[in-house]
Amino acid sequence: MEKEELAPHVSEISRVLGSKVSEDQIEKELDTYLNLYRVSLETAKRSVVRKLGGDPNALNKGVQKKLSELSGSEQSVDLLVKVLSANRKEIEQNGEIRTLIYGLFADESGTMPYTAWDADRFPLERGQVLMVRNAYTKEWNGKPQLNLGTRATIESQSADAVKLPEGMDVPAYGPTTAKVAELLEGMNSVTLTAKILSVETRKIESQEGAKTLFSGMIADDTGRVQFSAWHDFNLKKDEVVQIRGAYVRSWRGIPQLNFGERAEVSRVKSPFPADLDLSKPKPRSIAELDAVGGAFDVLVAGIVVDVKKGSGLIQRCPQCNRLVQNKLCRLHGKVEGQYDLRIKAVVDDGAGSMTAVLNKDITEALVGINLEQAIKEARDAMDPEIIKERIEERLLAKPLEVRGNVISDDYGLMMIVSEARMFVPEVRADAANLLAELEGAQ
Ligand SMILES: [Zn+2]
Repeated sequence: MEKEELAPHVSEISRVLGSKVSEDQIEKELDTYLNLYRVSLETAKRSVVRKLGGDPNALNKGVQKKLSELSGSEQSVDLLVKVLSANRKEIEQNGEIRTLIYGLFADESGTMPYTAWDADRFPLERGQVLMVRNAYTKEWNGKPQLNLGTRATIESQSADAVKLPEGMDVPAYGPTTAKVAELLEGMNSVTLTAKILSVETRKIESQEGAKTLFSGMIADDTGRVQFSAWHDFNLKKDEVVQIRGAYVRSWRGIPQLNFGERAEVSRVKSPFPADLDLSKPKPRSIAELDAVGGAFDVLVAGIVVDVKKGSGLIQRCPQCNRLVQNKLCRLHGKVEGQYDLRIKAVVDDGAGSMTAVLNKDITEALVGINLEQAIKEARDAMDPEIIKERIEERLLAKPLEVRGNVISDDYGLMMIVSEARMFVPEVRADAANLLAELEGAQ
């Protein structure tokens, strides 16, 4: 462990010892336990405190707060929480891939997004009740966000240690029958009847050796969902099956159905009308999508209430496609950025809001400007913001229907838009009325 990494632990020990011992001495002692005796960090800290005449139990006693009391500037805080959601994400850091877990914590006072920066040290799962110690908070978009970093620890608590208000709690998932649109992260033992739209096989390496994974898309009258089957259930395209004992886990921010060892699959006569096109996206409300944590290929209609920063003419890194700001890529440093067009719009349907990300082609079609024209306009005006203004003029406060995959993360819902169109609901209704009148007059 590097000296800088030790520093917070040294000051924590110093706090427990009441500054009776110099930080230099604490550091030397800690270093000995860690690097000579090679004990774990927690053991080393407790040993040093004991050796220097302090109470090791005082080490874990930080300031305990409720989620609603967090300000966004806590350096070290303890919290008793329930895990409402836990999603894994791989990130690249200094050229290395690491896995973190993010989601929502809850206590009696409310909920808060968290990030646990090490999936191995914090194997968080939905429904757990935990004492989290030495977490820290930061402000993000004006709101506090909780972080579990190198100093944090978690301890399992009894399930009733946190009592949440009705409606906020994690549902207890017993065996349940569900439609595709109702599938949400954490469900176990789901029974579902659906039609297999596609199935493909893939060889994967697992701990027990090579395995065949069957994956694809299934659908019912409420929507479509991706599935993974970890056994050969002899699934065939266009068959209607009833699956018992499936479970739901989020994959890249979208709930996905899994058939594991305990699942059973049986063939049923189609419960769906023959003319029902299951491959079409279904309209969903943002509140529904929020409740289930994302969905595959859905339609959302709402009003554009904001065009976010980062919309319009942007530059991307030619190597990793990340946004380039001030000629700098976060990963590759100084690069020659390549121009791109995109829109990050906040769409509100009255019951909730989500961010819709529209790529270059969709932006071009919607705004009526192509990339070359946008570059020229921005150069002529010597201001790339002019393109964002143009997008705002076209979209703000206007109704927009978007289609795509909706993913959820700690910043809310985001749709990767595959199709978008503006519509005018009032006029459409008026037109329909007018048409009816005309027809009636004939
Ligand atoms: Zn880059």
